[in-house]
Amino acid sequence: MNAPGVLGTVPAKLYINGAWSESSNGERHPVTNPADASTLGDVAWATTADVDRAVAAARAAADDGRWSGLSGRERSRVLNRAAALLRERTEQFAQAESADVGKPILFARIVDVPTAIEQLEYFAALAQTMDGAVRETPLPALSYVRREPHGVVGLITPFNFPLILSVSKIAPALAAGNTIVHKPAEDTPLTALLTAQLLEDAGVPAGVINVVTGDGAALGNHLVAHPDVDAFAFTGSTAVGKRVAAIAGGNLKPIMTELGGNAANIVFADADLNVAVDAVINAFIFNTGQFCMAGPRLLVERPIHDALLGILSNAVPNIPVGRPSDPGTVIGPLISARQRERVEGFVNQAVADGGKIITGGSRLDLDGGYYFRPTIITGLGNDALTVREEVFGPVLTVQVFDTEEEAIQLANSTRYGLAAGVQTGSIARAVRVTKRLKAGIQWVNGWAMLDPSVPFGGYGDSGLGRESGPEALLNYTRTKSVTIAVPPA
Ligand code: NAD
Repeated sequence: MNAPGVLGTVPAKLYINGAWSESSNGERHPVTNPADASTLGDVAWATTADVDRAVAAARAAADDGRWSGLSGRERSRVLNRAAALLRERTEQFAQAESADVGKPILFARIVDVPTAIEQLEYFAALAQTMDGAVRETPLPALSYVRREPHGVVGLITPFNFPLILSVSKIAPALAAGNTIVHKPAEDTPLTALLTAQLLEDAGVPAGVINVVTGDGAALGNHLVAHPDVDAFAFTGSTAVGKRVAAIAGGNLKPIMTELGGNAANIVFADADLNVAVDAVINAFIFNTGQFCMAGPRLLVERPIHDALLGILSNAVPNIPVGRPSDPGTVIGPLISARQRERVEGFVNQAVADGGKIITGGSRLDLDGGYYFRPTIITGLGNDALTVREEVFGPVLTVQVFDTEEEAIQLANSTRYGLAAGVQTGSIARAVRVTKRLKAGIQWVNGWAMLDPSVPFGGYGDSGLGRESGPEALLNYTRTKSVTIAVPPA
């Protein structure tokens, strides 16, 4: 039983077929606050039998058409109601997200919740635009093409942006008429449960959305291998993404994967330095560096290298690192002790590889939380592990280049291809360089400028498929063609 506090506001059970229940074996699991390693409370910990129950509920709801049978306009109204309710519940969601992830409350309020609202509103609008096509053929027939929902979709999300990443999947999946079984990350289950409650209150019928909290490998594998789930969307690490994609692919089930990243941020000497500094800092400290589209690889053109590093080494130590609940905090803790050890390991390896720490490089001791100072490292070659791998912490490596060609080669020398940034005063260069960068999302003179209408997704080991935009709606549909004989009169 959870005491009052953040978890006191969350229905901390499994949400299956429109009802809240304990897991089949009664197990519950603690939720840790990364800011002080305390326990926020506990949530129900599902078994594979609970996943089967959730899939059965979603299957029945898909098969009887209680959601897909509504018009797009009716589904749109429900999604808009959910958006309006979320706006009213901003503070509840922001507090839960902040405590669960260690996210500064400032950003939970002004980024996470508003982004989720925008996703709901955008896909509410798109729900009314599901259309098909008529094909002109030489047959004595009428041929038309329909887009239909897959049926039951399985959604698996990571720990770093629980609300945004859940809603970025739920909104298009519901807009297209699917039913859902959602498994949030084991470390950060709270806002997925609040979202289920929100959707119920907005009028989503029982069985259409089901949420099971529990162990990633056990439940995730079971869900992805489940014969009654028709399609999947997975966001998480590349290693796990490849594993789940292999299972889904082996069963010929479509799967969309949004995976890891290790983006380059290229600063040319002709860039506006103030704009570039903002872009460089935001790209590696936002969400304590735990974001897939982070830009941890800074590539700087030689003439401005020293000036840019001078500004960064003065500015970065002054960025407020601290308690997420403090409205002035910009950098909170990492998600777990394990994640902090991992980040620390990359920093130690960088030093062993000849890297020089310009600022940061160490833990911050505060309340027993998992804090790590924002860190800048120079002097590493392109083969260094800390440059090659996704660190997923507030760590920036800096490399210098002399030509545009060299910058492009360095930027592309990664197996990932999610994001990239180009800071330049030249439009011609921006167009030329972005065309050659192998990344699915790119920004010029800024970082992480996002909108629900703009497709989001990666190349290479960063995954397959796109979230946001009409492209996302298409991911949650399949194509049917119908040809009706029309004998000549
Ligand atoms: P993760 O891969 O460890 O976990 C992601 C999800 O998969 C969680 O829900 C987890 O419980 C589940 N899971 C774990 N093992 C599983 C298995 N064997 N089968 C099925 N599901 C399983 O990732 P994480 O540590 O939570 O998140 C960080 C990673 O996510 C980073 O690599 C980051 O770049 C990536 N990410 C990508 C995007 C994007 O849009 N491309 C967005 C956010 C995060």
